[in-house]
Order: sequence, then C-alpha cells, then structure tokens
Amino acid sequence: MAANDFYQTLGVSRDASDSEIKKAYRKLAVQYHPDKNPGNKEAEEKFKEISAAFDVLKDPEKRAKYDQFGHDAFRGGHTSGGVDPFDLFRDVFGGSGGGGFGSIFEDFFGGSSSSNASDGIRGNDLRVTVSITLEQAAKGVEKEIKYSRHTECSPCDGSGSSDKSSKTMCHTCGGVGQVASNQGFISIRRKCPTCNGSGITIDNPCSSCNGQGRSKSSDSVKVKIPAGINDNSRLCSRGRGDAGPLNGPFGDLYVDVQVTPHKVFERDEDDLFHELYIPFTLATLGGTVEAPTLDGKVTLKIPAGTPCNKTFRIRDKGMPHLRSPANKGDLYVKTIIDVPTNLNKEQKQKLVDFGVSCGDKDIGDDSSILKKAKRFFEADS
Ligand SMILES: [Zn+2]
Ligand SMILES: [Zn+2]
Repeated sequence: MAANDFYQTLGVSRDASDSEIKKAYRKLAVQYHPDKNPGNKEAEEKFKEISAAFDVLKDPEKRAKYDQFGHDAFRGGHTSGGVDPFDLFRDVFGGSGGGGFGSIFEDFFGGSSSSNASDGIRGNDLRVTVSITLEQAAKGVEKEIKYSRHTECSPCDGSGSSDKSSKTMCHTCGGVGQVASNQGFISIRRKCPTCNGSGITIDNPCSSCNGQGRSKSSDSVKVKIPAGINDNSRLCSRGRGDAGPLNGPFGDLYVDVQVTPHKVFERDEDDLFHELYIPFTLATLGGTVEAPTLDGKVTLKIPAGTPCNKTFRIRDKGMPHLRSPANKGDLYVKTIIDVPTNLNKEQKQKLVDFGVSCGDKDIGDDSSILKKAKRFFEADS
C-alpha cells in the first residue's frame, strides 16, 4: 500500500491540516494539470493520482475511514453484484502495475461508468460554457446557469416502471448488468445488452419515460466563480449532470469559464497590461496623467523626457491570484506618444519655430518635399 499512500502522493504528513492538504494538492494539481502538460501521459496519471488522494483526504469522513482502514475503507460499498470490484482496487492500489487506473478513477471522478449494477448506471457528465468579464473575473462572481439535463422521472419515481412491482431481474446477466465472454484465456466483461447494464428488466414501463426512469427537463444551477479565475478554466459541479437511468447516480456538470477580452487591458496570468496614450508635450516636459485600473483611475507621474514604449509598473493593480486572492498581480502601463493631428496655423507655426530652434530643417511646411528636392539639386550643381 505504501506505494500509493494518499499522504505520500500529496507529499504531506499524516497529521497535516486541511489547509495544508489543500495547499499541497493545489500546487501539484497546477503542476500536473493536463492542460499544462498536453499529451504527457505521465503527468496525466500523476494528476489522476493526486486528485484521487485529495478526493479522500479533503473529506473528513473519508479521511478518517482511510486513516483507519487504508484503501480497504472504500471497498465495502461496491461488493454486491456480480462484478468483483476488488479487481479494480487491486489493480490500482495493489501495485500490480497500474494497469487498471482508468476504472477506479472513473469511479472517483465520474467518467464513464465502470460501476456495477447495484449502484445503477451513472448518468452522463454535462458541459456548459459561461462567459464573464475581466471585472467579474477580478472580483469573483456568482452565475446562474440554465441548462437541461435528465432528472428522475416523477411519475415513476425514477423506477422506470408504471407499477413499481413489475421489475424483474435481467435473465441475460442474472442482475449483474454485465456479461462475460471468454476469448482464450482472457475473460472480457461488457455491458449486458438486454438490460443495458441496469441488471433489471421492466415489465410495464412507465409511459412518461419509456422505462428509463428519467426524463429531460430544464434546470439551473448557481455557480460561484472564484476571483482570479483564468480564461478557459473548468469548474465542476458534482452531481449536477444527467441522472443515471433507473435511479442510477448523477453525473457531474462541468462549467467552462471564458473571460471575454477587455477593451483596455490585456492579461497575462495575474498581471495586466495597458497602452496609455500621452501627449508628446507631456512626454517631453513631464507631468501627471490619469491611468485606468480595474478599480478606478490612478494618477501616474510621467517624468520629463519619457520615451515611447516606456513601461511603468503599478503594483497590486493586476488580477487577484486564484489561490490567494489577497495577493495581486501588477498593472503595467506602457506609454504611447500621441502625435497631434489637425493642428491650427498658430500651433503649427509654434512647432516649426520650436523645430527650427532645435536645428531641424525641412519641417512644418507642405512644400518641404519641394524644398528638399531643391536643396538636393543645389548641392549637386
Ligand atoms: Zn417514469
Ligand atoms: Zn442484463
């Protein structure tokens, strides 16, 4: 068991506090997240491993059981039915090479179902996308999401049968929900085609749900989107997916969060970037200017002689850090020199005078090209 000890997996001691466990998990989860390691099988396995460990250790009840019984703690509930659930756990935790990883983690995380008939068939996971503004991402926001999903059929209470007594055990699989076929030395189990894995057949199917025990209806869920969330993040609302047929367990609802691009700020992780147009006079002479931040304007001091593309850092005016919202990124303001257009005659003349005083030639006149040409020929002759 030591090989896959949940505490070791998260790198915490057995008496670690909840917050230490959370912290350790988050750090590892970020490191091994599949999004950060595309195509990296090892990282994926590791991510599953740490997620499984956290799933147990974050829950005081599960953790206590785990402390007392180890991995055996989670075997009990799966023993009925014909499939030997011990197989799954043995593969994963018994050190036989990790070949069975998929199955146990599907149980933990609700992938496709390897659950046996006694648990019922798990409903599908669902996915919705929600868009939020950068301001909402900065403060955190609660969004109500409307979607449709399979829920328990009410006329039959999810039993699928019009009179609740008319269920019989499936004769094909003997109620197990799976059938085995032998190919040489290998025995392959698959979902029973007669009962579709439920282990029972319905003699008088409910007319509302055609014996499915569930029906599609609209639903809504309030999702708390944490401050500091990144674009293309995924949240999970457990048990908010489809109901499984015949009172089977619910799938999960995955909420993909998109942060819409902002008009004036670009974001890179927790930092924000803004291009600030300043008059060339201000850039030359120095002064102050107002710069936007996510929570109102701030006054920015521009030193005399500020060039184009000079970047000023305004501390703590970036996005809150997702894991510790009290820590914020910075705002980087880059100056862009705003070259004036549509000058009137007087303004033009002043600039010409200024230019001439600096020794600039060929400025300020529409005929400057002509002048240039003239000088070129003069020099040539
Ligand atoms: Zn029904
Ligand atoms: Zn069957």
